[in-house]
Amino acid sequence: MSILKVARMGHPVLRARAKAIDRGDIKSPRMQQLIDDMFETMREYQGVGLAAPQVHVPLRLFVAGFSPEPGLEPDEDEEDRDQERVPLMALINPELSAVGNGTDEDWEGCLSVPDIRGKVPRAREIQVKAYDRSGRRIDMRARGFTARVIQHETDHLDGVLFLDRMKSFDTLTFLDEFGRFWNARRTVPEE
Ligand code: ZN
Repeated sequence: MSILKVARMGHPVLRARAKAIDRGDIKSPRMQQLIDDMFETMREYQGVGLAAPQVHVPLRLFVAGFSPEPGLEPDEDEEDRDQERVPLMALINPELSAVGNGTDEDWEGCLSVPDIRGKVPRAREIQVKAYDRSGRRIDMRARGFTARVIQHETDHLDGVLFLDRMKSFDTLTFLDEFGRFWNARRTVPEE
């Protein structure tokens, strides 16, 4: 396995629409290696999600998953900690649709826009259709933080960054200032 180089804002690969993956290619050693490397890269940079264009591969694939270490955020109540937990997943050719009209505005960060945070409105609950890394069809619902991460990553496949989704830049903040002025107790992992 290897840790891949992450493209930063300004690299054209982050603004291109990524190509769908043929179902027959999903189980190829090359694709499986890419998925393993993306998981390793995401862990290395303590991200909660990573899309293939972020590692200079213009394909419709992302990995996600995050579970905070127990005791890391002792001040947060149970509900908040549940919100931060995202099951491990590798999704290929994802298609999203909103369930209902509910939206939430909450903090996001991005490995391609390092050390910046901002509040982004997202659908509260979504239906997700995709393939998993075995080529099996997935059809699932996601809500809360997991739904937020899936929407952020799927945006990367269409060349969209979280900044594009912000209603205003009033909350756009560097990480140091986020800790000082916004929400010092809270960890907002990059995606
Ligand atoms: Zn991102």
